[in-house]
Amino acid sequence: MSAKIIDGKAVSKKIREEIREEVEKLKSVGVHPGLAVVLAGDNPASRVYVKNKGEACRSAGIHSEEHKLPADVKESELIDIINRLNKDPRINGILVQLPLPLHINKELVLKSISPDKDVDGFHEINMGRLFIGQEGLIPCTPFGIIKLLEYYNIPVEGKFAVVVGRSNIVGKPVAMMLLHRNATVAICHTRTKNLKEVCLMGDILIAAAGRQGMITGDMVKEGAVVIDVGINRMDNGKLTGDVDFESAVKKAGWITPVPGGVGPMTIAMLLYNTLKAAKMGHHNG
Ligand code: NAP
Repeated sequence: MSAKIIDGKAVSKKIREEIREEVEKLKSVGVHPGLAVVLAGDNPASRVYVKNKGEACRSAGIHSEEHKLPADVKESELIDIINRLNKDPRINGILVQLPLPLHINKELVLKSISPDKDVDGFHEINMGRLFIGQEGLIPCTPFGIIKLLEYYNIPVEGKFAVVVGRSNIVGKPVAMMLLHRNATVAICHTRTKNLKEVCLMGDILIAAAGRQGMITGDMVKEGAVVIDVGINRMDNGKLTGDVDFESAVKKAGWITPVPGGVGPMTIAMLLYNTLKAAKMGHHNG
């Protein structure tokens, strides 16, 4: 058996097209969605991410601006900028690119973003809303995973879902979203015993550990849906996931490739959240 491919590139393209059309409609009634990205320091990967986010906004017709700050920026200066953006009516979404320089308290910075403009969904209020099943802005990567499952009509209710990784930005939120969709969920981490046995129970297996090829075919249940969130750079410079694709594709029913799976969905959902924040701001204001 060879798994069917979950094509995140194609799905994200479709979502981005729908967003572009909706942005056009909003503009025709005078609402112009805008995203501000704040980048502190000169991490090369972060610079690429910020550039890509700006380009994605522009292609969707969303106003985008970058606030580039030096690596030694004071925490208070960074928070002042966020406070200004919180009040700026042209800005509906604020994203602080992570990681931040070490002298800056990440939690404090994320908390200073208005929850209504928190398009990354990392604010504790949005995290809390997600936890109790209330409407809010949802972190882009987990949201993108759920959208992929929905797009391919992959059932979640009653399934056993195994999430490998318990970070606040991927593992925990995706587990919570699967739980709200009535899956039975196991969350694995570095202290999990018998990881292979747990993974083998997964009708849905989500790999978000950041360990190249750690999920091998012998850890995949026959016919399972395998979602690979991992992004690892190999020695030859190419990107690869947490799943050993060659062996897993023979066991899975569905599988996401890396690249071209979850990655492109993350940026699509950032645009989605910016549009949502613009609509919320319009109705509230
Ligand atoms: P993270 O904060 O480093 O968390 C990794 C999690 O995996 C931790 O909970 C860790 O357990 C667990 N883990 C690590 N090694 C393990 C092992 N051998 N066995 C079991 N669990 C293990 O990473 P993250 O930010 O969630 O990101 C995870 C991966 O997804 C990375 O490759 C990242 O680049 C990628 N990512 C991709 C996107 C995208 O758009 N596609 C977005 C975000 C992240 P402990 O808690 O016990 O340490």
